[in-house]
Parts: sequence; C-alpha cells; structure tokens
Amino acid sequence: MKMELNIVDFYSDVLNIYGDIGNLLCLKKRCQWRDITINQKCFSIGEDIDLDYEDTDLILIGGGSDRNQEAIANNFLNQRKYIDSYLDNDGVLLAVCGSYQMFGNNFKNIDGMDINCLEIFDMETIISKDRLIGDIILNSNIELGNDKIVGFENHGGNSYHDYNTLGIVDIGFGNNKDAVDEGLVFKNFIGTYLHGPLLPKNPHLADYLILSALKNKYEISSLSPLDDSIESKAHDFMVNKYLS
Ligand code: GLN
Repeated sequence: MKMELNIVDFYSDVLNIYGDIGNLLCLKKRCQWRDITINQKCFSIGEDIDLDYEDTDLILIGGGSDRNQEAIANNFLNQRKYIDSYLDNDGVLLAVCGSYQMFGNNFKNIDGMDINCLEIFDMETIISKDRLIGDIILNSNIELGNDKIVGFENHGGNSYHDYNTLGIVDIGFGNNKDAVDEGLVFKNFIGTYLHGPLLPKNPHLADYLILSALKNKYEISSLSPLDDSIESKAHDFMVNKYLS
C-alpha cells in the first residue's frame, strides 16, 4: 500500500539552532527509504498560513535564541487554534527547546521581557542567567525499542510542569537545573530540550514519530526495518562515551 505523510515545518529558517532542521531531513529520508511519499510544507514568519489540521500528519518546530523566539511569537500565536485542534486529534508534533517552551505559559527573557506563548500546556519556563549546556542522555519513558535517547542541550530556560516526560536524565540537566527528567509527552506531542539534531542519532525516536503519524491514517502496526548501522554508531558513541 502506497502511503504518504503531510509534514508541516514551522520557522526552520529562524528556529534552527544546532541544525534542528536535521529532524525534518531525517524523517523525510527514513520515509523515502520506505517508499512513503512526503508532502512537505515549510512556513515562516510574515507568511499567511492557512492550514487544515485534518490534512496535517506531522509538525516539526525547532529551537533558537530568546530573540528568535520573540521574532516568531506573533505568527506562532496565530497558529494556536490550528495546533490545538491538531493535538486534540492526536496529531504528531515534535517541538525542540525554544518552541517546546512556547507551548507553555508566557515567560520572560533574560532582560525581563515577556515572550508570548501558546499556553496549550500548563508549563512555566523561568529563564536563568546560568545556562544548562552540554551532552544529554535520557532513559526513555516511551517504548522505542532502544531505551536511550542522546542529544545536546543549551538553554537558559528552566521548565516546570506535571505532564509525562520524555525520559529520565542519565547525563545532563533536563527540564530545569534540579530536574531528574526531561521533556513533555502528551498524546502525540513531544517537547524536548534535545538538539543534535535529535532524530538522526535516535532513529528509534524518528521511527516512533513516523509510525505514530501513519497509524493515524492507515491500518499499520510496524515499519519495515532500515540499516541503521551508521546512525547506531553515532548514537552508541555518545552512550559509550558517558555510560560505559
Ligand atoms: N532561548 C531559549 C533558552 O535559552 C531556548 C534556547 C534553545 O532553543 N536552544 O532557554
């Protein structure tokens, strides 16, 4: 059965710190390798965006500086109804760092200026001058077939919420300076501080997102396996560097 996914990518020309656009490239390639057609729509600020949540299968948004978050905030708030309806209908969405923060309540940047947020999740983000920077490894809280998720974090924002999290922190900081866990998982929304980009070094998480999106459209329970020897080498290098 020929399958296809409609992927919407927001602001990757502005929120693309540490190459978060790599998440889109990774998902596209893993779908192409499986002969799954990708219909990609990329949007940025200044564009009139008129999207139908029922015609969207996967949304990706990356991270960036406080200034870049401010730059997209107004346009992002205009997408709230669409994104809220999309998530309510089990839409698959990956938000990295700065965009993850903006799904919560408003927060102030390092200069005390408000950065307006979607207020979809009851999450507080408090910017601190001490940044949380470095490699990060999680023990995944979602069943991925490989229990480790590796990445890199660099954020001044400390996020606090009571939702399920992506993983327990083995190495690194996580949601805030005192956190034992990281990210936010709600239905098919995944928010995370992990850059890298995240997905190329975590093919199991990439496939989790692809399969979750396909399950919303097709009677499918698994994906055909790929040769992930190179991806696993990069992933295992990080795990062995810190955990062996
Ligand atoms: N500007 C936000 C912070 O410093 C997000 C940073 C990012 O996306 N890496 O917390």
